[in-house]
Amino acid sequence: MQGLGVSPGIAIGKVLLKKQNDFVIEKTDVSNPEDEILRLQSAQNTAREQVQNLHNQVEATMGAEEAKIFEAHIDIINDKTLFKEVEKRIFSEKANAEWALREASEIFISRFEGMKNIYMSERAADIKDITNRILEILLGIESADFSKLEEETILVAEELLPSDTAKIDIAKVKGFVTEMGGKTSHSAIMARTLEIPAVASAEGIMGEIKNGDVIILDGGSGEILINPSENIISQYKLRKKEIDIQKSSLNVFKGVKSISKDGVKVKIMANIGTPKDISAVLENDAEGVGLFRTEFLYMDRSSLPSEEEQFVAYKAVAKKMKNKPVIIRTLDVGGDKDIPYLGLPKEENPFLGYRAIRFCLDRRDVFHTQLRAILKASAYGKIKVMLPMISDLSELRQAKKLLEEAKASLKKENIVCDENIQIGIMIEIPSAAILSDLFADEVDFFSIGTNDLIQYMTAVDRGNSKVAHLYTSFHPAVLRIIKLVIDNAHKKGKWVGMCGEAAADPKLIPVFLAMGLDEFSMSPSFVLRARGIINNTSKKDIDVALGKILNLPTSEEIEKYIDENIIHVF
Ligand code: PEP
Ligand code: MG
Repeated sequence: MQGLGVSPGIAIGKVLLKKQNDFVIEKTDVSNPEDEILRLQSAQNTAREQVQNLHNQVEATMGAEEAKIFEAHIDIINDKTLFKEVEKRIFSEKANAEWALREASEIFISRFEGMKNIYMSERAADIKDITNRILEILLGIESADFSKLEEETILVAEELLPSDTAKIDIAKVKGFVTEMGGKTSHSAIMARTLEIPAVASAEGIMGEIKNGDVIILDGGSGEILINPSENIISQYKLRKKEIDIQKSSLNVFKGVKSISKDGVKVKIMANIGTPKDISAVLENDAEGVGLFRTEFLYMDRSSLPSEEEQFVAYKAVAKKMKNKPVIIRTLDVGGDKDIPYLGLPKEENPFLGYRAIRFCLDRRDVFHTQLRAILKASAYGKIKVMLPMISDLSELRQAKKLLEEAKASLKKENIVCDENIQIGIMIEIPSAAILSDLFADEVDFFSIGTNDLIQYMTAVDRGNSKVAHLYTSFHPAVLRIIKLVIDNAHKKGKWVGMCGEAAADPKLIPVFLAMGLDEFSMSPSFVLRARGIINNTSKKDIDVALGKILNLPTSEEIEKYIDENIIHVF
């Protein structure tokens, strides 16, 4: 079977399918309600045990603060008021425990959802979570647990949520296959950060395999082999070894500068999602963090992270990176990044909707908390702030005003921060790219987000496998606009980075170098390869090719021209 390779490498392992749980709960008459009460209590006990285990696991790996959410979940499992209501329904209606639980919890959920106090209204998501857990136990539905696996496993799912990938056992999970998504969907980005081979857009695979089947996946070519022969397995094991050797040959680029053969210095930075990713950043010797996608701190939980929790995370990253820059991007919620407890309404066009800076300028409480946490952490390292999805100057001006307000609030409390913290914007919407000459007057830097810029420039959904063949960084309009943004920034003395996936494309790195891009930011695992390419390229040699590339009419011709005229080193 053929999918789209989204994280390179070969993986071989046994399939674990992650199925979506759709509960169909019917009311049934029971003759002995006492038995239902016993079933309910036993399910509560099992749920309590599961949550306690999760708590201990998260506490040991991520810390006490992160584990707190599970304490709240245990409180719900022990909640007398809720479970009295469930029992009442079992007796009065002579009904099954599943039905009674759903009926009672729905009333509690809507009661909490209607509360004005944000903290209280967010408890609704916790009750939903626990209700689902107990329902799964009562119905005997096994939700795949991929945090404790016995053997080398390939996770296969319709889509893996960031909350799924955050929980996996990296020692045992060797690869991901998803039916949906593309190169820039978040499970793909996560796979690259974890250096786990992954294939997306494998349409129909869920119907073709079962748990325990053996598959081989090639995260480069997108090939998937189901139950291959021993002979094929040995061939792929050999290829895997070769890839590992090739990778270790890049170690010579550790500890050296990123500088072209003709002396042009750039920075090769890393993209991260959580403080845990810093070990990969240091391991691959990145020159800083070019993009900290903070939305991951808001996911896999059931309420907003507090100012203190965020501060701890940002400070940890700043301190570990020592004097190297860390660009923290403010919350980029929406689009394909859903945060269920925020209760955002379903939208017809989520990528064009209520997201990122639009959400933050509306929910100022959420934004203020994050800005204060970033500013507080700025006292501990070289932090810069970056705003996502800016489409016009008034958004930037409002956000800058709110940043000043956050600074003033800290000053009042005598809390120190970097008062001159640099502020930049993502250039990922065509309107901002076209107005980049004007934006350059009002920011310290740009970072080009090609993942979204390509989708908005070419009207191609970045996660839709049906149109994945149209989604390309080689599109002439995309390359021309990137050049325009770099030129506009340089005219005003501002620097430009790129943190979309195109920044790591070995064919495009020399092209962006010739355009004058100052900083490349990518999954940590690609840093050394990018440095190897820069250090083996002479900008002058590409200048002529660049002029030609920018005048070619199609993506195919551009890619072919690059293949034939620019020497590839890695
Ligand atoms: C981008 O759009 O290129 C980007 C880096 O942001 P994200 O992938 O998080 O949308
Ligand atoms: Mg983006």
